[in-house]
Amino acid sequence: MIIIERIKDMRDWIKEQKKCQRSIGFVPTMGSLHEGHISLVRASKKDNDCTVISIFVNPTQFGENEDYDTYPRDLAKDSILAGRSGVDVIFAPSAKEIYPADYLTYVDVGEITELLCGKSRPGHFRGVTTVLCKLFNIVCPNRAYFGQKDAQQAVVVSKMVEDLNIDLEIVVCPIIREKDGLAMSSRNRYLDAAGRKSALILSRSLFEAEEMIKKGERDSRKILDFICDRISGEPGARLEYAEIVDAGTLRPVDTIEGKILAALAVRVGTTRLIDNIMLEI
Ligand code: AMP
Repeated sequence: MIIIERIKDMRDWIKEQKKCQRSIGFVPTMGSLHEGHISLVRASKKDNDCTVISIFVNPTQFGENEDYDTYPRDLAKDSILAGRSGVDVIFAPSAKEIYPADYLTYVDVGEITELLCGKSRPGHFRGVTTVLCKLFNIVCPNRAYFGQKDAQQAVVVSKMVEDLNIDLEIVVCPIIREKDGLAMSSRNRYLDAAGRKSALILSRSLFEAEEMIKKGERDSRKILDFICDRISGEPGARLEYAEIVDAGTLRPVDTIEGKILAALAVRVGTTRLIDNIMLEI
């Protein structure tokens, strides 16, 4: 496995692979790798001849009062994990390499970026789509792999790829959870022991909601009231939003039918966590 920091070197490596007709799978990440990221690498290795993972804590997707400075960074540890899982290249550019001083261009996917997480994180998805558009142009992958954990991101990126005619396939992979149900996340590292316990309320309330739906409840309001009650009953957690939306449009639905997403964002102390379940009725 090699680590590449420069765009030019990354492009040269890609050109060599393309000359040999090798297909390229791409896994964009912000590093601090865990089993969720590695599941994307596995999926990519199954479908492609080579796998590139990017590790880039993207400044433009963080709000002013968010955790850009404190976001966990450990390239040495990430390299070991990535190497072990069979990644061919880690692309780890600096912020200056991606956003030189004269940088001007942004990609904005429009109103679906203002729903769900977009309400409390204005500009977040603009940063995400901008960096992904750049990374797609640098790596030119055949397929790019995303986690259902960031369900809105997967929908927004798929829309960008469709609208901008970017020639690649987006593959969305299931959420990887800890044994007790907590969705894996680099931000789980911020949690102390009490916070780690409180954080279980996200997956628990979603799984219980899933049971209610499976037993026949179709009224979104009732399910959401239940989730809100469960979360307000957990003193260490504060609900930012809970919504039931159409999985394609991300618009709220009153009645649970078709493909829906129950998604929530919760603060545990200062740590913002998200989780969701997708159901087809
Ligand atoms: P991040 O490093 O948090 O930006 O995540 C990089 C990619 O890994 C995104 O596509 C995420 O959706 C995906 N990912 C993060 N956590 C998980 C998880 N627990 N299960 C599956 N995919 C995940």
